[in-house]
Amino acid sequence: LFAHVFQPGRGAERTFVAVKPDALQRRLLGDIVRRFERKGFRLVAMKLVQASEDLLSEHYFALRDRPFYNHLVKYMSSGPVVAMVWQGLDVVKTARAMIGETNPADSRPGTIRGDFCIEVGKNVIHGSDSIESARREISLWFREDELICWEDHAEHWIHE
Ligand code: UDP
Repeated sequence: LFAHVFQPGRGAERTFVAVKPDALQRRLLGDIVRRFERKGFRLVAMKLVQASEDLLSEHYFALRDRPFYNHLVKYMSSGPVVAMVWQGLDVVKTARAMIGETNPADSRPGTIRGDFCIEVGKNVIHGSDSIESARREISLWFREDELICWEDHAEHWIHE
């Protein structure tokens, strides 16, 4: 019955997105989720998480030597984040385009960072930067049984 859902294919790419503590505090969660939903991507997993420093040190392992690292971990653990997995054709690249540049000042209006924030240290959202990062981050933040395969009745109206 759900055979098509498990077929690896054009619409099967997944990315990890996290709505950061500042966005939660500022009640931006709904606006941010709505953008991915209306785009046509499929929500595969979502949870509210108080991230530990251990989790964040694994998540941001590649940035451990950067000057802003400690500040970043403090920011990301300063309140809950909403961790999500979204699925669809080219979702990694497209989610990054929807999010905008790392520095909100370089992010165009119409992007999430371009519309909702001003400073790089409070940039409201994370999105995986490659398919490999997405795989790593999804398995870091979610157990396999938290990823839900559901029958998407809009699938054939969104993907060819
Ligand atoms: N960051 C920061 N200062 C900087 C660069 C990055 O505070 O000069 C923070 C910012 O929250 C950013 C996160 O570190 O989103 C991760 O940085 P990365 O370069 O991976 O950017 P992203 O992939 O999030 O756009």
